[in-house]
Amino acid sequence: MLFKSTRSDDTVSFKKAILKGCPLDGGLFIPASVPDMRQFFLYMDSGTVYTELVSAISPSFLEGDVNPIVAARVAESAFDFEPEVQQLDEKFSILKLYNGPTGVFKDFGIAFLAAIIEELNNDKVMVLTAARHDTGVSIARAFRGRKNITAVILYPSGPIRGLDESVFVQNGGNIIPIQIKGYFDDCQRIIRSAMLDRGFAERYNITSANAVNVGRLLPQAFYYLYAFVKLKKSIADDLVFSVPCGNFGNLIAGLYAWKFGLPVHGFIAAMNANNSFGDFFSGRTFNPALTPLITNSPAMDVCYPSNYERMFSFYQESPAVMRNMVFSEAVDDTTTIKTIRSAWEKFGILLNPHSAVAFAAAEQAFAEKDNGSHCVVLATGHPAKFADFVSRITGQNITIPQEFAMLKNISKPTALIPAELDALESSIAAAAG
Ligand SMILES: *Cc1c(COP(=O)(O)O)cnc(C)c1O
Repeated sequence: MLFKSTRSDDTVSFKKAILKGCPLDGGLFIPASVPDMRQFFLYMDSGTVYTELVSAISPSFLEGDVNPIVAARVAESAFDFEPEVQQLDEKFSILKLYNGPTGVFKDFGIAFLAAIIEELNNDKVMVLTAARHDTGVSIARAFRGRKNITAVILYPSGPIRGLDESVFVQNGGNIIPIQIKGYFDDCQRIIRSAMLDRGFAERYNITSANAVNVGRLLPQAFYYLYAFVKLKKSIADDLVFSVPCGNFGNLIAGLYAWKFGLPVHGFIAAMNANNSFGDFFSGRTFNPALTPLITNSPAMDVCYPSNYERMFSFYQESPAVMRNMVFSEAVDDTTTIKTIRSAWEKFGILLNPHSAVAFAAAEQAFAEKDNGSHCVVLATGHPAKFADFVSRITGQNITIPQEFAMLKNISKPTALIPAELDALESSIAAAAG
């Protein structure tokens, strides 16, 4: 599979696309053409293990770079957790994507990226990532101990939580957490200038594992195919997926799954009160708000989705098809709370607020127009990550897995530096030698 920028037609391999992170023209990498992968997954049955599906699909991304045996090794080394599909009734199933180390679906893309970089690279490489909240933990977990890789995690000001200090470089590991005196955007800006600084980039062979890297995004298509494989026997109706959206990476991955051949009838783009992107889907002008509203599903408090150009490229190619493929629904905080309560009462499931937005959006969409579909709701976060909130609404005691309790521990960064490239380079030199 070849990739190109959203802003030009020059193509690069998957390996190049993931090692560069972003094209130099400021766009985002997207597939230049999408292979039909039905031959790899349509025959799979409900007994299929996640790593089997990943090993069957991923060689198509990596044409020439990876054979099926290597693909199986990558899948095994990436995933010691898997998605879980639970059918609730005739109309609804949930796809639980929170069994990874930090309890959010982002663990899936990060785990695959770390394993594939280790496999494809024979040289030493340094992976720079800007992180906040638990993403840093997910990165540290996925990259720890990987051969020839050093992972530098840049944090904005504020407490850093959940890291295991035994994997830090100074303790013999390969992880370097560095704190910048500044905001998350400053971390991203410094990484961009590091990638553009030829001397620096070549000395350390730098790449980035940021959220828009196709090596994180595309593997998220795997679990949509997995949901189909698990449900196809028990469900006669067309499938629809309801996806809780922030930067729209997860939904884009679903759209690629559809392009790969997933039999799907449509996608519900579920948003909280930050729903101005909804206008885009109905063909109206998208006027992004300047500051996000604070809601009870904070990972979705986004005004201008970082995947905008990718979404736009789908609509540019076939606007009429897309208008019948993606439907947006906005869900307010009160409805989110009601849905957490009713999902518990009706189905005995505990929903994290982000997953509840997707569930409510699906119910709203079916109330408007029930076209006889079966909806798979993506549960993107573990209920225990919002334990107090979910517990207050449902009256249930929520056990917090031990790994999550550790996510609260505060750790000390290897260095604390001003938001400047020089400072970053000297602290990396001091830590990595
Ligand atoms: C990041 C996140 C989202 C939003 O996903 P996007 O790919 O940015 O649209 C939804 N739910 C949870 C729990 C998240 O962490």
